[in-house]
Amino acid sequence: MTMKKGKLFVISGPSAVGKGTLCKRLLSDGGSKGAKIELSVSMTTRKPRFGEKDGKSYYFVTEDEFRAEIGKGGLLEYAEVFGCLYGTPKEPVLAALERGSNVLLEIDVQGALQVRENHPDSLLVFILPPSLAELRRRIRHRGSETAEQVAGRLSKAVSEISAIVKYDYAVVNNHLGRAVAELREVIEGRHARLKAAEAAEIAKRFAGDGTASGR
Ligand code: 5GP
Repeated sequence: MTMKKGKLFVISGPSAVGKGTLCKRLLSDGGSKGAKIELSVSMTTRKPRFGEKDGKSYYFVTEDEFRAEIGKGGLLEYAEVFGCLYGTPKEPVLAALERGSNVLLEIDVQGALQVRENHPDSLLVFILPPSLAELRRRIRHRGSETAEQVAGRLSKAVSEISAIVKYDYAVVNNHLGRAVAELREVIEGRHARLKAAEAAEIAKRFAGDGTASGR
């Protein structure tokens, strides 16, 4: 008997929207019914933030090490984000799918679109903040960015949200418990797909939200 392969879920959303917390909470709450869920650990040239652990939060590598990995064809996707390189190690993801696990990739929009290209059956989930003002508050609260970096992350957020039209599902991270439940519905195939008109409306609403300027 051949084992049923797992599904690949790509989770994107602006920096500090809470993707990481959501995914970790989903796993610590016991995942979902049916297949096991595994979270992919990305590789990055970014320096670790306070409390981040190598091999757990990310594999922290030098640019030479990262480029060597690209050369070996070892990455499923990669992109430059905020001046650093980020990528998904291919082998652990393929192995997890092969053993029937559902795999979550918590990656940016550029990477998500590469995954969609190479794995057309992957499902793309966009995590939205309740508003840009709330997103700015969350970025500032993290305290690791300068004012200039906060402004950069906010303006990138608006351009990332415009890519929501290419995504299959949207989850608003307003209330953590509710957002985790919705993400679980997505993974279990019980959540409504994002309609094209809805996605266009969301992109328009955030593009017109003047709080992005940082004022
Ligand atoms: P942070 O530096 O805040 O941890 O992450 C910055 C951005 O990089 C986030 O949008 C995050 O989703 C994205 N990111 C993290 N890992 C990967 C990856 O492996 N590939 C891509 N394309 N983006 C990633």
